[in-house]
Amino acid sequence: MDCLFCKIAAGEIPSKKVYEDELVLAFYDIEPQAPVHFLVIPKEHISGADAITSENSQIVSHIYQVIAKLSRELKLEKGFRIVTNCGEEAGQSVPHLHFHVLAGRSLAWPPG
Ligand code: 5GP
Ligand code: ZN
Repeated sequence: MDCLFCKIAAGEIPSKKVYEDELVLAFYDIEPQAPVHFLVIPKEHISGADAITSENSQIVSHIYQVIAKLSRELKLEKGFRIVTNCGEEAGQSVPHLHFHVLAGRSLAWPPG
């Protein structure tokens, strides 16, 4: 399948890795929007948040556990934001489920 994040998950396209296990990969975003900006993806191809089902939703819980662990290790105690854009109007540009983790600056709410 011609999917950018599947290729990154397989190591076919290099990335700056934050964390990896058999199910997920976390890597720094190529165009950071905050001093800390990494993405967490399932290695399994899921096209987006609208494709989560009872069959594949366990990965979401695992990803949130990984993010919590990384937030402690990277000392993000001042705060961080988890964002998943889904679909065109939300600005999803890569059709493989991913969770942005943003930190290191004050983050506006509501988002633009
Ligand atoms: P989206 O726009 O779908 O919410 O998020 C996709 C993210 O992937 C963007 O923040 C973009 O900068 C990042 N991105 C796109 N291509 C690459 C790449 O080849 N390597 C890395 N590390 N990030 C990428
Ligand atoms: Zn994919």
